[in-house]
Amino acid sequence: MHRKDDCIFCKIVAGEAPSAQVTEDERTLVFMDLFPVSEGHTLVVTKEHFENVFEATPEAIAAVGAMSKRIADALKAEWEPDGLSVYQANGAAAGQTVFHYHMHLMPRDAGSALTLQGRTQAASDVLADQAARIAARLVH
Ligand code: AMP
Ligand code: ZN
Repeated sequence: MHRKDDCIFCKIVAGEAPSAQVTEDERTLVFMDLFPVSEGHTLVVTKEHFENVFEATPEAIAAVGAMSKRIADALKAEWEPDGLSVYQANGAAAGQTVFHYHMHLMPRDAGSALTLQGRTQAASDVLADQAARIAARLVH
């Protein structure tokens, strides 16, 4: 499986950097975004290192899509947000800051600012609690 040594998401996948993990399957890992734009902001990443949608295989993208559906349902069940943004950036010009293919899931409430990037790092115990709440809502 291809990995990139200086990639933070590859380090998280390998267990070499910390994260608040929700779940995983053969091709994907799910953990809380460290700089969340909303409560429950979750990332679905490929276990293999692909820089973006152009490098990723159709199989990896399909796996991220299937996992994103499971996480979306769990977020809806747990937080009952007014809306949910599902978002994926390719290239710095598109707002990508971590160059390892991943999908954002961001619960949204009516009237809240529609930002894509958080500025405040969340506390690890808060993220661990949210990860457990999402994991407990996974139904399929
Ligand atoms: P993007 O800007 O679309 O490439 O998304 C990268 C996301 O990764 C941002 O929302 C960051 O807050 C998040 N992020 C960066 N480093 C970490 C980390 N160590 N653990 C969890 N999330 C991270
Ligand atoms: Zn990587």
